[in-house]
Amino acid sequence: MKLGMVGLPNVGKSTLFNALTNAGAESANYPFCTIEPNVGVVSVPDERLNYLENMYHPKKFTPAVLEFVDIAGLVKGASKGEGLGNKFLSNIREVDAIVHVVRCFEDPNIVHVDGQIGPKRDIETINLELIFSDIEILERRLSKSIKAAKADKKLQGEVDLLERLIAHLEDGKTARSFDFTEDELEMIKQTPLLSNKPVIYAANLCEEDFSGNLEENRFYQEVCEIAKEENAAVLPICAKIEEDIADMDAEEKSMFLAELNLKESGLDRIIREGYSLLGLISFLTAGSDEVRAWTITRGTKAPRAAGKIHTDFEKGFIRAEIISFDDLVACQTMATAKEKGLVRLEGKEYVMQDGDIVNFRFNV
Ligand code: GDP
Repeated sequence: MKLGMVGLPNVGKSTLFNALTNAGAESANYPFCTIEPNVGVVSVPDERLNYLENMYHPKKFTPAVLEFVDIAGLVKGASKGEGLGNKFLSNIREVDAIVHVVRCFEDPNIVHVDGQIGPKRDIETINLELIFSDIEILERRLSKSIKAAKADKKLQGEVDLLERLIAHLEDGKTARSFDFTEDELEMIKQTPLLSNKPVIYAANLCEEDFSGNLEENRFYQEVCEIAKEENAAVLPICAKIEEDIADMDAEEKSMFLAELNLKESGLDRIIREGYSLLGLISFLTAGSDEVRAWTITRGTKAPRAAGKIHTDFEKGFIRAEIISFDDLVACQTMATAKEKGLVRLEGKEYVMQDGDIVNFRFNV
């Protein structure tokens, strides 16, 4: 699963991206890798895994991971091929969700492409490029659908939807803020739209504002207004602070965060929110060999989850022995949990829950 970081030039994308990838290397025990200069893999912070690590002292520790892509190069006119426009748009096409970094800090030394800070205008600039590109794609589909609907009246519903959606986009609104019915979602599925990708707006504030009253921060509030219309998430963040924290060891980091009255870094929150925005949850396996988090989408049933570990596990699935993380913590040891009957046997129809600790039984 991939998250793309987008934003206008000089908003703090690279600062965040570098902090993110540094922090990944530091905190995770995970063989962090930069796949390409602008692509990095980071581990998903998960206290449950650390708890299990202390319990089992495993040889190997493997957290869930997310891939981040720093998508630079957007300028006004990208959808018309200006600048690195086409490359930018195709990069966005490949990600599953977007972290949209918005400049909310003032700094006379750092030029703003439009001369002054304007989060709402900046967000709209980027979103408009995505919208233009979506309109182009939808219009092509519409002209095909109109022809097809002449022969098959059943397709008229699709024509109506495309026309309404195009009108919505032409108003400068993203596809995210369109009220799709279930049927319409199904219809639009085959035409992935850039402005329909889930998004987190990361409001990049200066140090002082970040620790101040956000209710009264007009830049931050501008971001919130847009996010509200789109049902999107907003995260206040300070790229400068994240840059500083990224180099610290775990102890220094938690002291520093405590001074700021924070439980976790902004990056950790971006990673966690991103994971959840993508509809992802983790199930866990634990033993003396390895403690590990496995990523599945919410709603996944037990056999499919088993298949994440090995295809044979899915094919030969018999049952899953499952205990929820909270039950294990309450019992302290697996043996006590078993005595109390808290280790359940679940079958093929069981829908996996976040934090399930699992042992699969299967035929080979
Ligand atoms: P990008 O073009 O969006 O990738 O922006 P960069 O991450 O390269 O940042 C542009 C400049 O803004 C750099 O000089 C950063 O050090 C600076 N910068 C980034 N975030 C902040 C911040 O929160 N406060 C201040 N004052 N400067 C920042």
